[in-house]
Amino acid sequence: MENELIQLYNNSNLPKEGWIQGCFHCSLKTSLLIDIMTEKSYKDKKNYLFQCFLCKDCRRTFSRNDILYYNFIRDCKIYIYDKYYDLISS
Ligand SMILES: [Zn+2]
Repeated sequence: MENELIQLYNNSNLPKEGWIQGCFHCSLKTSLLIDIMTEKSYKDKKNYLFQCFLCKDCRRTFSRNDILYYNFIRDCKIYIYDKYYDLISS
């Protein structure tokens, strides 16, 4: 299966395909990414790999607080299931 990468970031005026985007949590500009989840689509014969931009400061915050991190990942997944419903329900 082919892999397709989908990257989440906070709305910014930066170029859509750039290496630097707004942190998905706090909007700060960053090039750091974390993996959220992978979903198979049998219809498209693809694995969709979801990542989100997460800045250094938020990484540090999350590394110290499991509950915050857990909630953030849960919110990311809710966002993904909502926004990419058609992709991942096939
Ligand atoms: Zn951040």
